This record gives sequence, C-alpha cells and structure tokens, in this order.
Amino acid sequence: NKMVYYFGKTKTEGKGKAKDLLGGKGLNLAEMTSIGLPVPPGFTITTEVCDQYYQAGEQLPSGLMDEVGKAVKKLEKELSKKFGDNDNPLLVSVRSGAAVSMPGMMNTILNLGLNDAATEGLAKATKNERFAYDAYRRLINMFGDVVMGMDHHMFEKAFDKIKKKYKVEDDTEVPAEGLKELCEAYKDVFRKHTGEDFPQDPFAQLELAIKAVFGSWNTERAVKYREIENIRHLVGTAVNVQSMVYGNMGEDSGTGVAFTRNPNTGENKFYGEFLINAQGEDVVAGIRTPQPVAEMPKWNRAIHKQLLEIKKTLEDHYTEMQDIEFTIERGELFMLQTRTGKRTGIAAVKIACDLVKEGLIDEKEAVMRVPPNALTQLLLPSFKTTARNAAEVLCKGINASPGAAVGQLAFTAEEARERKDAGESIILVRRETSPEDVDGMSAAVGILTSTGGATSHAAVVARGWGKCCVAGAGDVHIDEKTKKIKVNGKTLGPKDTISLDGTTGEVMLGSVETQEPKLSGDFAKLMKWADQYRTLAVRTNADSPADSKRARDFGAEGIGLCRTEHMFFEPERIIHMRSMILATDEDARRGALAKLLPFQRKDFEGIFKAMNGLHVTVRLLDPPLHEFLPHDNAAQKEVAGEIGVKPGEVKKRTAALHEANPMLGHRGCRLSITYPEILEMQVRAITEAAINCAKKKIKAHPEIMIPLVGTFQELALLRKKAEETIAATKAAKKFDGDLDIAIGTMIEIPRACLTADEVAEHADFFSFGTNDLTQMTFGYSRDDVGGFLPDYINEEILDNDPFQSLDQTGVGQLVEMGVEKGRSTKKSLKVGICGEHGGDPSSIDFCHRVGLNYVSCSPFRVPIARLAAAQAAI
Ligand code: PEP
Ligand code: MG
Repeated sequence: NKMVYYFGKTKTEGKGKAKDLLGGKGLNLAEMTSIGLPVPPGFTITTEVCDQYYQAGEQLPSGLMDEVGKAVKKLEKELSKKFGDNDNPLLVSVRSGAAVSMPGMMNTILNLGLNDAATEGLAKATKNERFAYDAYRRLINMFGDVVMGMDHHMFEKAFDKIKKKYKVEDDTEVPAEGLKELCEAYKDVFRKHTGEDFPQDPFAQLELAIKAVFGSWNTERAVKYREIENIRHLVGTAVNVQSMVYGNMGEDSGTGVAFTRNPNTGENKFYGEFLINAQGEDVVAGIRTPQPVAEMPKWNRAIHKQLLEIKKTLEDHYTEMQDIEFTIERGELFMLQTRTGKRTGIAAVKIACDLVKEGLIDEKEAVMRVPPNALTQLLLPSFKTTARNAAEVLCKGINASPGAAVGQLAFTAEEARERKDAGESIILVRRETSPEDVDGMSAAVGILTSTGGATSHAAVVARGWGKCCVAGAGDVHIDEKTKKIKVNGKTLGPKDTISLDGTTGEVMLGSVETQEPKLSGDFAKLMKWADQYRTLAVRTNADSPADSKRARDFGAEGIGLCRTEHMFFEPERIIHMRSMILATDEDARRGALAKLLPFQRKDFEGIFKAMNGLHVTVRLLDPPLHEFLPHDNAAQKEVAGEIGVKPGEVKKRTAALHEANPMLGHRGCRLSITYPEILEMQVRAITEAAINCAKKKIKAHPEIMIPLVGTFQELALLRKKAEETIAATKAAKKFDGDLDIAIGTMIEIPRACLTADEVAEHADFFSFGTNDLTQMTFGYSRDDVGGFLPDYINEEILDNDPFQSLDQTGVGQLVEMGVEKGRSTKKSLKVGICGEHGGDPSSIDFCHRVGLNYVSCSPFRVPIARLAAAQAAI
C-alpha cells in the first residue's frame, strides 16, 4: 500500500482521497493545492502507517523511510533547496492530523532539518543570522520537548541566563550572538538530559519526529480528548511533513489564524487574529496578544485583500465556513491549513441559513449541516438584564464562547474535576489552558483565562463544547499556589463565586441571575425546513402545565409521556401519596386517593389546555416505591400524623414495603392489579378533566397509558377497568359527549416485545419505554449503572452509555420486533418512544428507520429531536 502522498506544484496525489486515510489536515492541504491556493509543498504519511506502527510494537513499517526519502527528493527539486544543506537548506514542519480534528491535542515540530551546518546555510540564504539561530534554538527546544520528552523548563533556565547576560527582558531583544550561545547551551541541555547529542542528520531527525507524532496519538491527553468528544474507531493520526515558511522574518512577515465567518455569531465577516513577526505557534499558544484581522489593511492592504479572495475561493469550494492558518513570509502569503470551522450552535444555524441565501447550499443541505445537539447552545441561558446591570463587573476579557456561567473558583483542572464531582458548580481559572486541562475544562461550568485570544486553546475547545468561556482577561492576576486571584483591587479565592458572560466577555462578582434564551428568526427558519422533511412526529415528556407550554413553544406536537407520579413530588402532595402507599386497607387507601384526585384533575386540565387539541398521553402511576417511602424520622412522623397511627407503625410498614430490587418490584401496572382503586382514581381524574375541558370548549385528547406490561392479560384486565371507569365517570357527570380516550401501553419489558402481537390486540398504541427496556435487556440497574459504566466505556465494551443512546444492535432488535409483531395483529397501531432515547439524535435516526410514528423527549430537547428526525428522513 502507498504510504506517502505528495502535494505540490509537480503533483497532488491526495486530492479526493479519504479523510480517514490522510487525516483532515493532509486531505485539505492536498485540496487547497489542487484549487491553486498558495500552499507550501510537502507530503502526508497515511493514518494506516500509524496503525501499522502500533501493530508492530511501535516500529515504523519497512520501506516507509524510502518512500519518505523519495518525497523529500521531490520537495528538494520543487523548491531548489536541499535537506541539511549548508547553503540553502530545506526545512520542514512535522505535524499530526487525524481524520477528526483534535485542536492542540497532538505534537508539532517546526524547523526540522536544521543542524549546525544548515543553520549557517540558513543564515547565509536569508542574510539574517539572528533569524537562523532563533529557528535552530526553537527546533532544539521543540525536539527535546516533543521527541525526547524533556521538560520545557530546562530550556527556559538556559534562556533566562542568556537574557540576564545581555541584560534584556524579551526573547526578541536577544542579539544574534546571544542566540548562537543559546543554541550551544541548548545542545548541552539536550545532551545532559538525553545522554545523546542533538541529531545532526536531518533524516534521523525526521524519522524520530514521525515516530513522535505517531506516539502522540496515544498520550493521556489525546486519549482523554477522544473520550470526552466520543471519537472512536479511528486507526491513528497521519503525519504531515511540509516545507517551512516563516512569519518571523521581520516586520513584513507575520502569521495568523482566522475563520471565514464569525464562529461565535455566524456573521459573514472574515474573523481572526494575526501577529506581525511571529510563528504560528505564538498565536495558538496565546502567549502574545494578537491583533484582529480587521486591522490588517493598516499593515498590509494587499495581503488582506488576498485573504478575502481566498475566503471566497475556499467557501465556494467547500460550501462551508472554514478555519484557516496562514503565514506571510516577507510579504508573500501562504496557506498552512484549512478545515471546517468549529462554531457555536448559534453560528451553525445562522451560517446554514446564510449559505442558503447565498445560493451555496439548498435547504435540505442546510438541515443536514447543523448537528442537532448544537441547538442546545441556542437554548442556553443568559443573564437577566436587570441583574447584570446591578452586578459589579470586575473586568472584561475576550468573549471567547457564549453563554452564562456562575460558579466558584477552581485553580487547577484536578481541583475543578474533584469539586464538580462533589457537586459544586465550578469556574476554572487559568492563565491559559493547555490540552492537559481538558478534563477540568469539561468539569467546569465556565472557563476564565488571563492570556490568549479568541483562537487560543481554551476558546476553541470551549466553543466546541458550547461551554461559556472568557479568555485573555489580563486584569485577572492568578496565583495558583495560594489559590487567589487579584482583580481590580479585589482578592478572591476558592469559596468566592463569580459570573461569566461568554457573550460579552464580562467577569462579574457574585452570583448573577440567569434567564432562559430567546430563539432567533434563523432558528425558526431552520426548524421550519426541518419540519418539511421529517416524517416522525415529535412529542414531549412533561408533567406540568408549565413544562407543557414550554415544550409547545419549542414545537412539541403533543405529550408522549406524562409521568403522573411526578405530579406528587411537591410537599403538600407527597404526604397523601405516602399515606396512600402506606395504607393497610382499602378504605385508608381510598381516603388518601381522594385527596390526590383534585390535584391530578387540576393538573390534567392545565395540561390539556396548554396542549389545546394535541394528544396527551397520561401514564398511570409507576412509582418505584423506594422513591416515595418516608425514610427519615421527620417524614415518618408526618405521615403517621396524617394516617393516624404511631410513627413506629409507619417505620414498620416502610420496612415491610422495602424491596430488594425496587426497579423490578411492585410498580407499574402491578400496582393497579393489586390496588384497582389507584387506576380508578387516575382514570376518573383524567375523564373529569376531559369533561371539564369539553364544557369549556377546550379540545382535550387524553390517551391512557398503562406501564410495565409484560403479558397481554395484564393489559386486558386493566383496559377493561379503565373503560368501566370512564363510562362510570361520564354517567356520574351526566356527560354523554364523545371523549375519544385511547388506551395503550408502554412496551418496556422484553416479554412485551416478544409477545407484542398478543399485547397489541388490547392496545390502541404502543410507546417504547426504552429506559426500562434497556435496564431489563442488559440487566443493568438504572440506578446503579454509574458504578461500572465508566469502566465499560473505557474498556470499549460499550461505545456509549446505553441509557443515553439506544443500543441498536441489542435493545433495538426488541424494539423492531415489538413494532413488527404489534402491527401484525393491529395494522393501525400507533407506535412511539418515550424513554430518554427519544431526544438522542442517533436513537431518533433508528426510530425513523424502524417505522415509529413519533418520538417523545424532554421539552428542552424537542428542537433537537425535530432536527434529528429531519436528518433521519433526508
Ligand atoms: C422508560 O422506562 O423508558 C420510561 C419512559 O419510563 P420511566 O423512565 O418513567 O420508567
Ligand atoms: Mg419505565
């Protein structure tokens, strides 16, 4: 198999090849070269070679270095330079690049090919000795760091000595002489810590660097990043070897990173930053604070214009917003990288809509462009205007990633993780973040850094996650040791709370009140497009009039699951619920139920009204008993008072009701089998609410859903009771209109799937309760899975948490069977899903494929489900 793909003027071998083979960076370098953009030539070693490297116990495959040698020859010819030459040396960068972008996660080596002789050659060729030795010391440092695993501080110490000697503070002020001495000092440091001389043979450097890039694929931070981002099934990283160009050759040189559109807002405006006389790493690392590209014309109007042309060429070619890296070497522009730009959810929606307007993509494509989960960011909270006006603003940084975050300060990634796990809401405060911090960044609700720009590591990673981030807040002075920040005369520590506004960049003292977001016109447009394509209906899981209303505003087309036991969590209600559970005779139970009935009826009326004419599936009581039993003394005493027994008696009954396995215990339809009066009360409340609505001309469409059915006999019995109760209630209310109340069942026990043909004969509809179905199919307790699930994911026994994303191969078969068998006896059977999976995009895709009629999910996820359903249908 071909291991090396060349890109340059002579030929571009990688054009149109797979991203999985060349990695994102490699493929895009080839593409950019092929559309005539100024890309420094080079070559890409495939990801397959990385795989072979690991298969062979971290050995490069034989023949690789020969192919590399040939590609280097081609490069030398194209550039009229020679590797290791002491006249006009060829220098290259060596970078990683996997099929999925992992910003800052892996290693890069620049200036490779320099040795003592080539440095002299470079000085001659560029007529700039200072520049040449600066490049050399950077190489020794990076090579030591990345390839030999040396600590950066060892080099820093040597640098400080030189700076002291020349009585200067800045790296840039050290004269050529000093840098020459520094290179010698660095070589000594290198020798001292590796026991070897810095390699003078450029091919030896190249081979070691290639190995180091492959090695970086499996560093802890890279593995962690893939874990957090759920990046799986990649064989490895490609290696890109590319001829160097320099942004640090003087005031006519520079480097920058930019997005072809604003990645925060989506605005169609070239957006980014550049630094004059600097190397690319300086921008990304956030060490110097760059200037916005809008300022570039003041420095070089022609380059700015060329960049704007390239923006257009790239967007026309990719029909997508791009994230680019560029360098200007002595007034000549070079493109070093392009990739699809990460963006906020808000930007994703705006860009998709704008691209349609601009005629680059059609509506269908726009629907496909927005990752459903990115919509979460449109639904993000912000600060209340009044609260934020009253808040004390401590300082302002760069608005790196929007949103509102309120939390206490943590100073290291580990601290952030620990305190988050202990239940605190944390803002991670760092001078700048590095890939080692990703776990802490993921644990924090918001991130604050004191250096770095809008394209620094913290900003890019936070934006990808939709996490609030304020970067480059220079007024924040951080002391990691004493765990204090000083900001404008105030000193704050781990116990202090701050509020971050990622949209404005403001850092505020204390906890500022947040509010729910408002949705933009583009959002509505995209949702409308999505609704045209989807065939799945989207309902919501809601148990209160307020939630129902919110879900309706988000576009819910009905309620797929109203968990009636959730209506009893409030203190004035739970007491009656407990009394009902603890009652020892029917009279006492009926007494407690009578007190619950008015609450239910009122809520049902509110919900029917909110859903005005849409279907509302009300599930009969399904409380896992342990959630409702009074466990502490005070609660037991209260119930004792209510039902008129001694607290000791309540304690005894509570103990008697204890179940070894409550999730498989006396819940769901089993309760109504034992205590039919529960079903009677609920069905009566539903019917009365429907009658009351009918009298007020409110259209109510209740559907009664019986949970946890495993045999058709359960359903047949309870259906009959429900029908009798409806009839009795109508008679009692002297109502003879048609209420049209459908009666169906949840399918959440494997046996119900296996016998779905029989069950369907007694059901008007099925709704898959995939939470319980997953629990019972895997045999993993829903409540206890946290104890071992992380290990299962780490060991790749499972790809995902099956309680979040449906296990399509296993549980999915049961769902499919349930649908098929159910419809085999009842063609008209309406089928939906109401487990957590109903809001998960990949599960929704599955639901579409197996022919469900609707999905039902939490209100907040309704827009996500609408979009995912459309994508499934396209
Ligand atoms: C389910 O089991 O999937 C379901 C929706 O019911 P609950 O989560 O209330 O058990
Ligand atoms: Mg269930």
